[in-house]
Amino acid sequence: MLKDNLIEVEEHIKKACEKSGRNPEDVCLVAVSKTKPKEMLMEVYDCGIRQFGENYVQEMVDKTDTLPKDITWHMIGHLQRNKVKYVVGRAALIHSVDSERLAVAISDDAVKKGLVQDILIEVNVAGEENKFGVTCDEAEEFVKKIAVLPGIRIRGFMTSAPFVENPEDNRKYFRELKQLLVDINNKNIDNVYMNVLSMGMTNDYTVAVEEGATHVRVGTAIFGARDYSH
Ligand SMILES: *Cc1c(COP(=O)(O)O)cnc(C)c1O
Repeated sequence: MLKDNLIEVEEHIKKACEKSGRNPEDVCLVAVSKTKPKEMLMEVYDCGIRQFGENYVQEMVDKTDTLPKDITWHMIGHLQRNKVKYVVGRAALIHSVDSERLAVAISDDAVKKGLVQDILIEVNVAGEENKFGVTCDEAEEFVKKIAVLPGIRIRGFMTSAPFVENPEDNRKYFRELKQLLVDINNKNIDNVYMNVLSMGMTNDYTVAVEEGATHVRVGTAIFGARDYSH
């Protein structure tokens, strides 16, 4: 039952909060539902979950059009500029902004729609070859560059840590990203105050919570393994 999975994940988050002196209410569990059928999303919805994360634009459009309107949607996947218009205004938070051109496209579309889109900057903390995101060294410049765009509000950082056997191996990356957030806030850049840290997935979310994650993105531990074969 998905309900049991959910209870277990919530219990783990609570324990990680206790261990690190945090309030569980400060951690938002985003249920990552990519590739999963709507029935499964509704099963989790009926347990009280209202935050869902999707990676693929078409899938998100379909789900947002047909599922209950009180769901908050998170776009967590890599986003192409030509698809921005389907996501702006539909996703409460776009986690995966990793280039100035993408930020500009989002801002332009948001201005056109008369809204301000909340976004996160994706950071490739471990500097992995095959991952999207700016490096930690580039982050401050990038923040400064896009903070002036009128249609976006930078809320914080997102990262996907390396896939590791032992989640403890990612603790240093989560700590580094938290520190980066603190450091950049301390620079008092105009229009920049960031308080969101989206980090931690099925394999490492408890460590991420201990290190200050405000949003964990958990798919497999809630919905089971994904099947990409069809
Ligand atoms: C798929 C995905 C997740 C969820 O991964 P799990 O290991 O299934 O919890 C989280 N974040 C991003 C960016 C993803 O693409």
